[in-house]
Amino acid sequence: MEEQIRQLKEMIDCSTKIVFFGGAGVSTESGIPDFRSKDGLYNQHDIQFDQYRPEYLLSHSCLVDKPEVYFEFHRQKMDTRNIKPNRAHEYLAKLEQKGKLIGVVTQNIDGLHQKAGSKKVFEIHGSALRNYCMNCGKKYDRDYIFDSKEAIPTCSCGGCIRPDITLYEEGLPEDQVQGALKALSEADMLIIGGTSLTVYPAASFINYFRGERLAVINESEIGIKAAENTLIIKRKIGEVFDALDQMG
Ligand SMILES: [Zn+2]
Repeated sequence: MEEQIRQLKEMIDCSTKIVFFGGAGVSTESGIPDFRSKDGLYNQHDIQFDQYRPEYLLSHSCLVDKPEVYFEFHRQKMDTRNIKPNRAHEYLAKLEQKGKLIGVVTQNIDGLHQKAGSKKVFEIHGSALRNYCMNCGKKYDRDYIFDSKEAIPTCSCGGCIRPDITLYEEGLPEDQVQGALKALSEADMLIIGGTSLTVYPAASFINYFRGERLAVINESEIGIKAAENTLIIKRKIGEVFDALDQMG
């Protein structure tokens, strides 16, 4: 571990255009359950939702066909407003402030990178902290759906207000994808963290990286075959970044 941290620090020290690509594992240390692990969202048994597959509860079909179920699930499981960023988010924000990091590409919808102070964040699955009307496009603030007393939050135009997240059966937000791919193609170092790279198309993004230094920090095996000189650290990402931070 010590030696790997030292290697990672050396890689970071000689890079000036770092991109971080992260998944659910970045947020689990803040107490947000991921989807697939033992304590993840897919394995929580909840009488109210047990009759539905978790993928269905996060799908466009559910939003359209059973909106009252969709919004109840969203209010109960996606409200991250009081959750704080952790050491991983904080370290990445510092790297950006030092002018070494050109972008964070995240599959998470919790807004924790921005809470930690990161500015260049590409949210390729959107954010649960933004809402908009599906009919007229009017934007609604962070609290609107979570605090709404209506089972199905409704816009003044009569349309349904939904969170700005990418559901199953929906395409990724084009502007975020373009920004992410541009940053990845310009990066001299890529750090992949807290993701097993099994969710497509997000996982295919890393093919846009053309730099020399690639590091992967994830507790479990990843779904890609990494090049020989890839630094792979099988640890919690917060632990690794904390150790780096202490090295100055
Ligand atoms: Zn509207």
